[in-house]
Amino acid sequence: MSEVVICPNCGYLAGTWEKETNIVICSVCETQMQFVNDLTIRDVGTMSLSEKEQYAENYIGHKIDINLQSKRLDYCAEKRNRIYGTSKQKTCQNCGSTELTPVRKNWSLLTGILTNKVDLICNKCGAKVK
Ligand SMILES: [Zn+2]
Ligand SMILES: [Zn+2]
Repeated sequence: MSEVVICPNCGYLAGTWEKETNIVICSVCETQMQFVNDLTIRDVGTMSLSEKEQYAENYIGHKIDINLQSKRLDYCAEKRNRIYGTSKQKTCQNCGSTELTPVRKNWSLLTGILTNKVDLICNKCGAKVK
């Protein structure tokens, strides 16, 4: 199954590891997101902000509403602050990259119970960062 989802409303691109579900709701505008088959999570990690905007625009087929777009950018900035804000910035042990994507982990295979744990995945090499 695809590991990248896009919001057809605001253009939010996100990775998903929630393979059990095929419904992902956009954290920005609460629209049901759609799976993208031509991108991997690593592609998304290496795309610049403007490339992501371009991709989203092409996908949606028209310019994204400016209010929605700024709402999404605010959300992304806020999310980044929440993760890196107080603690010192984490780096990937594998390649040293500081570009990490938080991935909500709802289901632990190890314990078989629901968790609220967040994994950080390296954008460059895809390694899980502790
Ligand atoms: Zn959205
Ligand atoms: Zn890495």
